[in-house]
Amino acid sequence: MSRRTLFVTTALPYANGPFHIGHIMEYIQADIWVRFQRLQGHTVHFVGADDTHGAPIMLRAEADSITPEELIGRVAESHQRDYARFHLSFDNWYTTHSPENIDLSQSIYRGLKDAGLVYAKAIEQFYDPVKGMFLPDRYIKGECPKCGTKDQYGDACENCGSTYAPTDLKNPYSVLTGVKPELRRSEHLFFRLSDPKVVAFLREWTTATPLQPEVKNKIAEWLGDDETGSKLSDWDISRDAPYFGIEIPDAPGKYFYVWLDAPIGYLASLKNYFDTGKARANPTARETRTFEEFVALDSEVEQYHFIGKDIVYFHTLFWPAMLKFAGRKLPTNVFVHGFIQVSGEKMSKSRGTGLSPQRYLEVGMNPEWLRYYIAAKLNDRVEDFDFTPDDFVARVNSDLVGKLVNIAARSARFIAQSGNKLERGQDFEVRHRISASAAGELIGQYYDRREFGRAIREIMVLADQTNEYYDRMKPWELAREPGTLPRAIEVCSECLDDFRILTILLKPVLPELARGVESFLNIGAQSWVDLPRHLPAGHVINAYAHLMSRVDPKQIDALFDIVPDPSPQPSPSGGGVGAATTVGPVATISIDDFSKVDLRIAKIVNAEHVDGADKLLKLTLDVGDDRHRTVFAGIKSAYKPEDLIGRLTPMVANLAPRKMKFGVSEGMVLAASGDGSGIFLLAPDSGATPGMRVK
Ligand SMILES: [Zn+2]
Repeated sequence: MSRRTLFVTTALPYANGPFHIGHIMEYIQADIWVRFQRLQGHTVHFVGADDTHGAPIMLRAEADSITPEELIGRVAESHQRDYARFHLSFDNWYTTHSPENIDLSQSIYRGLKDAGLVYAKAIEQFYDPVKGMFLPDRYIKGECPKCGTKDQYGDACENCGSTYAPTDLKNPYSVLTGVKPELRRSEHLFFRLSDPKVVAFLREWTTATPLQPEVKNKIAEWLGDDETGSKLSDWDISRDAPYFGIEIPDAPGKYFYVWLDAPIGYLASLKNYFDTGKARANPTARETRTFEEFVALDSEVEQYHFIGKDIVYFHTLFWPAMLKFAGRKLPTNVFVHGFIQVSGEKMSKSRGTGLSPQRYLEVGMNPEWLRYYIAAKLNDRVEDFDFTPDDFVARVNSDLVGKLVNIAARSARFIAQSGNKLERGQDFEVRHRISASAAGELIGQYYDRREFGRAIREIMVLADQTNEYYDRMKPWELAREPGTLPRAIEVCSECLDDFRILTILLKPVLPELARGVESFLNIGAQSWVDLPRHLPAGHVINAYAHLMSRVDPKQIDALFDIVPDPSPQPSPSGGGVGAATTVGPVATISIDDFSKVDLRIAKIVNAEHVDGADKLLKLTLDVGDDRHRTVFAGIKSAYKPEDLIGRLTPMVANLAPRKMKFGVSEGMVLAASGDGSGIFLLAPDSGATPGMRVK
């Protein structure tokens, strides 16, 4: 097999917050593939970077009273910590806010301009006169032009699903200041994606590239053919100051739209990795070429991008077109995945925190459990899959620990009786050489094609076979008699060699477990070529030490913050009453976060005691729509029900309904409380009526 050189990237995470589960899922997918290629003896350069530019970063930093550089610095630290903790083997992690990215972006832009593919055109856009900036679509809200629903974003209606331009909104307002935006003209720069030579190139490239069939179909819709023509429109690549980004060389006050410089960040991270000597120092690469030689047009290096299905347009149209017409090397392939969703019965009792990778680690869950689970669920198609807590526990506890790790635990017991020295039976060599090579071949193909779920299924079939062999040979009986003890040692030695093979086959997924196994078996780092080799007779292993524990279902409850059923008695600040406490400040949020809370004036039309509840009152609230809502509020110590009836109070109207011991609570009323006793329900000034929005 010839040794290939691969350059692999994952989509760049936006630097306005910690990794979410979607990022981690993609990185685990890419990392498994990368590790597999390395185990084949190929050289892989696996790089990533934070995507740092754009209005959201600028505004978020402003809201936090820090500079954008400080914000992206903090986020970069958290990203690097997390990727190490999930055993992601990036060779370099960098940022798009870098000199390398400025140089490369400006150089690619000049290339496109020289190719006659950039032009200027004045456009009309909403401008916030108070903030002094043009507003991105997501920062404009108003009434949906189709169905009239209020507070819809400038690009799509969450109620009726229609999409439109921000200028179509009725009564638009700026999310930043609340003022009515003005339409202003400004000159923008466009990339001529619809140019016939660009369209012709894209048709050719997407046909010749082995993209996934569903990706090809999607692209074919956009590209059309000679008869139908393409649906591509030219791409607005500039933004006006103030903007946190890269300045366009010949256009003062204009910046590259973040989506232009983000994918160039792949190359910038690679360049940084070369220029700092890391590529040369990388013991598995020892790359002696310069960056420019490595990415030269005639270089044999294969270039792969792992991305989510939401950014196919950017990566299969804009990105290859930009590279092509700037005279640069093209991607070898783009691998697209679907999304991970969290579901299952338990989730109905969850507080809706989702699956947070940081929380996952905090509650002490093993990162390799998640790597294994994600691998078991992934295939080569653009499909979503569910993270189901019960399925997760079953796969880790029954398969990974119960089938795989158990082989080592049960075999090691008897080997210990021979001073941890392995023996070899008559059929040992033949059985192993044949099965290990065949398994390595088949499972290797699955990994290479990103059919990880099939690889895992095959490996578990092999684990079953080893366990069946163990059960059939009954070493625990053989070990009872001195005469048959050597046979028990032979059987267990054979099972341990199977275990070594299974560990190699799982090494792309479980690198830490593999390290533990190599240490237990007292062998060097194993690779695919080691599959048909075997542990020689007389080889001494180390005493068995615990390799992996089972998932404790309590960890799952902690991970999802699952509310136990029935609910315990809520504290005064819990259950249906949001207390404005005097305890320390909380983290800042943006106005956008705040606007997600639908605060309404409610009229308490009824209040009553709840049988068996010490702290709760049952409130019936009218918020001006045609239905009444029930809220259980922990205010019994401070109020008599009859004193509350008829009062007005603000409530959180869009809080997810919560099942409590005495019934479902459909919102939350607001009250103040401090360290001492006393709960004080809030009230609006006179004149307010039920249903009014509090903002
Ligand atoms: Zn609508």
